[in-house]
Amino acid sequence: MNFDLTTEQKLIQKTIREFSEEEVAPGAEQRDKDKRFPREVFDKLSELGMMGLPFPEDYGGAGSDTISFAIVVEELSRACGSTGITYSAHISLGGAPLYLFGTEEQKQKYLTPICTGESLGAFGLTEPNAGSDAGGTQTEAVLKNHEFIINGNKCFITNASYAKHLALTAITGRDGTKKEISAIIVPTDAEGFTIIDNYEKMGLNASNTTELVLEDVCVPEDNLLGKPGEGFRQFLITLDGGRIGIGAMAVGIAQGAYEKALAYAKERKQFGKSLSGFQAIQFKLADMAMKIELARNMVYKAAWLKDQGRQFSKEASMAKLYASEICMEVTNQAVQIHGGYGYMKEYQVERMMRDAKLLEIGEGTSEIQRMVIARSLGC
Ligand SMILES: Cc1cc2nc3c(=O)[nH]c(=O)nc-3n(C[C@H](O)[C@H](O)[C@H](O)COP(=O)(O)OP(=O)(O)OC[C@H]3O[C@@H](n4cnc5c(N)ncnc54)[C@H](O)[C@@H]3O)c2cc1C
Repeated sequence: MNFDLTTEQKLIQKTIREFSEEEVAPGAEQRDKDKRFPREVFDKLSELGMMGLPFPEDYGGAGSDTISFAIVVEELSRACGSTGITYSAHISLGGAPLYLFGTEEQKQKYLTPICTGESLGAFGLTEPNAGSDAGGTQTEAVLKNHEFIINGNKCFITNASYAKHLALTAITGRDGTKKEISAIIVPTDAEGFTIIDNYEKMGLNASNTTELVLEDVCVPEDNLLGKPGEGFRQFLITLDGGRIGIGAMAVGIAQGAYEKALAYAKERKQFGKSLSGFQAIQFKLADMAMKIELARNMVYKAAWLKDQGRQFSKEASMAKLYASEICMEVTNQAVQIHGGYGYMKEYQVERMMRDAKLLEIGEGTSEIQRMVIARSLGC
């Protein structure tokens, strides 16, 4: 067994860590307050060749691997959770389904602008009445004269305001009570397509979360991703990969909060000594470091399995579940170690704690992860 990163992975880690410290971390607090999406950060990530990192060079990608993707998400999230989720969704929800299920022509046309960063990647699955039960989709796409006419609503969709097109799920047919769900690529400037960006969120305030309204949106039949009725299977596969991204985000946010807590504990004096001299605080920091280490190993293992072309669904679920739950714990303890100052925005750990909560909800809640894991155990 070899736990070392490859030379290329180490180089990516070094590059993205420096970038995150210099270009992402400094404005994170202000962007959270202003709820400002940092388009310029993603332009710079394009220049670094990160926007198509795990996709082949034929489509403008960097031909790298899933471990490298996880490292980039982790490092960006260590500096700013909003930047981390934007990048993670861009690759794993936006780019991946096009790469996995698209025709050669679709990849050239739709994956390439994602890899170059010209378009951000997005994926429209969730609806007001179809969240955990994503099969409850109500959006309908009716095929008429070789065109799909789509009507419906999607909610909580990441990155859509900055996407030129996105894949979304819709009912394309019915067999009695059984729905045929397919994924269709829809240009965001299509007539009848409205993107609403006005959610008031708990955290991840500098990320773009949108509502989509589709009113008689027409797209060519050729925009179908894969075959009719494959949408359900496609999104399950897409979410497996996405969970590695959420797990990596959790490791990054937790790492960022832990580092701030450790530095503060060394600096802050009470009762004549540093907080880090009190065993109660030392034990908190020890638990935080241990849990982050374990979560990181789980995320990298799931990524490694994926890179080997092996089954990784259970491991991705376990990694996402564990990492997101320890991220909540670690960020909570980071606030606790900061005392009253931790409650103040200036110290940034409260932002990390707010950002962390989404990780227990998005791309399958903790309850859904436990169901996925239990099913893999044969329950
Ligand atoms: C910031 C943000 C970004 C997002 N980005 C995207 C995106 O880019 N694309 C996209 O498609 N979606 C996105 N989502 C949606 C997200 O994936 C869903 O919110 C999530 O899957 C949960 O669905 P729901 O909100 O409808 O909750 P519900 O499904 O209504 O769940 C509510 C509660 O009930 C529990 N529950 C549900 N069913 C069961 C069950 N069978 N057993 C036990 N407990 C159950 C859940 O675990 C949860 O605790 C995003 C959400 C947020 C908040």
